[in-house]
Amino acid sequence: MGKVKKKVKVIRIDTDKCNGCRACEMICSAFHASDKYSVINPSRSRIRMIREPMRDVYLPVYAGEYTAAECMGRDKYVVDGKEYEECAFCRASCPSRDAFKEPDSGLPLKCDMCEDDPEQEEPLCVKWCLADALTYEEREEEVEEEVILEEMETGLKSLIDKYGLDDLIDSIARMSRKE
Ligand code: SF4
Ligand code: SF4
Repeated sequence: MGKVKKKVKVIRIDTDKCNGCRACEMICSAFHASDKYSVINPSRSRIRMIREPMRDVYLPVYAGEYTAAECMGRDKYVVDGKEYEECAFCRASCPSRDAFKEPDSGLPLKCDMCEDDPEQEEPLCVKWCLADALTYEEREEEVEEEVILEEMETGLKSLIDKYGLDDLIDSIARMSRKE
């Protein structure tokens, strides 16, 4: 297998600009509600705020990969004199905490960069962050084709877990007929 180009999407976070307003959590949960924009529930958001006003700590973190097991090592970080809790910068949906889990089912939540059809100009949390604490960036990287296939398999597996293999096959068949 050779190398292929992969688009990498990143949200850059400036904690100095974040004021803890939680607009990012609200719009993310509304956008991902099963009837779009029908419900606002920050516990369903794929971006979560670590918010400790008494210590001036405001840290937005968006959800990354699911992990089945807790990690063994924990680190404490001090940035600009502020101490952050051990898991603060971790983006994983992990058994050791409640963040990034669908509250009813417990299924892991992962940021999908608000992928939509038609495409959004930029992710909605970035658009709604009026403090400019979030900035969207895209770049291209060369990666082994194998890595892409592994990611595709992980994505398919989570869709099968959520909707079942039969429904997934039906959806793919429907989509291919529309092509
Ligand atoms: S919308 Fe922006 S300022 Fe408000 S909590 Fe989210 S990251 Fe912070
Ligand atoms: S990019 Fe979209 S899915 Fe990801 S955290 Fe922001 S609003 Fe949620």
